[in-house]
Amino acid sequence: MLQNIDLRELAEIRGNSRDVVSAYFRGSDGLSCLSGREQHIRDLLADDALELENFEASLANIQALIEEESLESYAGVCMFSSEILGFTRGYPISMEVPNRLVVGPAPHIRPLAELQDEYETFLIVAADNDRTRLLVVTNEIAEVESTVKGGVKNHVRKGGWSQQRYERRRDEQLGHYGDEVSEKITTLVGEHDIHRIVMVGSQETMRAIEEHLPQQIADKVVGHEPFDLHQSDDEMVQLAYRSYFEDERDGEQDLWQQIKNQTLGEGRGCTGPEETLEAAKIGRVEEAIAFREARLKATACKDCEDVASGELQTCPACHSHNVFPIDYLDALARKLELTSASINFVDEIKALTKVGHVGALLRY
Ligand SMILES: [Zn+2]
Repeated sequence: MLQNIDLRELAEIRGNSRDVVSAYFRGSDGLSCLSGREQHIRDLLADDALELENFEASLANIQALIEEESLESYAGVCMFSSEILGFTRGYPISMEVPNRLVVGPAPHIRPLAELQDEYETFLIVAADNDRTRLLVVTNEIAEVESTVKGGVKNHVRKGGWSQQRYERRRDEQLGHYGDEVSEKITTLVGEHDIHRIVMVGSQETMRAIEEHLPQQIADKVVGHEPFDLHQSDDEMVQLAYRSYFEDERDGEQDLWQQIKNQTLGEGRGCTGPEETLEAAKIGRVEEAIAFREARLKATACKDCEDVASGELQTCPACHSHNVFPIDYLDALARKLELTSASINFVDEIKALTKVGHVGALLRY
């Protein structure tokens, strides 16, 4: 599953030349959709026998793994192999991935980092007075983790004293029910490390549950959507994703504002590809922001293995000419993984574009 892919482990793998082949494709297509690109890479590597040999052998490893595992049913697959470094790995994913075939010094993790950033696991609380279902959602797939029976009756007109007794009893029932659900939510949030909760269903029930949530859990609630729970789960998940993405987009704006304020105040913020990558390399970055479509280049050095921003002819660290271009955001994502920092891929923000598509909040 996407969220279980350990990007840090992948980021730790690296060679000093174009040693690693990374392939992203639809499970039903296999490598066939990348054959044009495959030939292109082969042509480009024609003047480097070692790199070409490693490319062919690594590709064969990937092909063998595809034949071994049946991946046709998966929406997306990503695979990494390096004959020279002696590893081959594949990850089936329930979501589509962009078709990509890349050869570089390390596994190309940018698409995975972007998907993990976009599709964090979250919790749907689907509640009405009859019952509440708690669903953990990962990559558009919802799994029911827990169900609590409510059995709170609807309002009934009885009149007089018996009406008051009835209402009191009903309030008590609703209170107990809300309390029981809130405890289950608290447990699941801990178990799945959940940052967002979306409530859907009946207003009265949602309110009763939220009243019992501890503050730090209530703070994770990002949406309340009135919804008739007799409708399909697919509709419900779609509705919940709307709240989820609204909150995600708000969070991106907040992060950019923080980075901007910190940078303007000469505080803990930086902008631009060079500054951000240099900060990431020494573990100064807490959280980076990057325009998701940015096509920035970086340069890797075969001699000292340093990575620098921009397309350079010489390595700024050791002055070697033995350098080659790589994808900047992939290199940045890798440095961030290795230093336990995160990256947030965002839609276009005007000021961010002006300062070079990337920036970061710094730790010190
Ligand atoms: Zn160097």
